[in-house]
Amino acid sequence: MPRKYEGRPRVARTHGRKGRPWRRLRAQVLLEEPWCTIRGPRCTGISTTADHLLPLSRFPHLAHTRSNLRGSCLRCNGSKHDRLPGQNRGPAPSRSTQLTW
Ligand SMILES: [Zn+2]
Repeated sequence: MPRKYEGRPRVARTHGRKGRPWRRLRAQVLLEEPWCTIRGPRCTGISTTADHLLPLSRFPHLAHTRSNLRGSCLRCNGSKHDRLPGQNRGPAPSRSTQLTW
């Protein structure tokens, strides 16, 4: 009888966010931008994470691109979610072209 559960799925994660290339790139970002560049309302001021300017969920090919990364504190990075630059608050402006009369 085969085992039904084998623990973690056996997926190679050599290019994930926990791999060595990511850690090295993140360290480089924190070295070059030690102060948070987002400056949100709950900002701590100190970069502890590397934030993706264009969100990873929509632009996975830019995950390890230095120009898509900026230093940010955990609070700012965590509150940003998947918003694009300039898309700061509220829902996406999908109805902005709708006429009101
Ligand atoms: Zn911050």
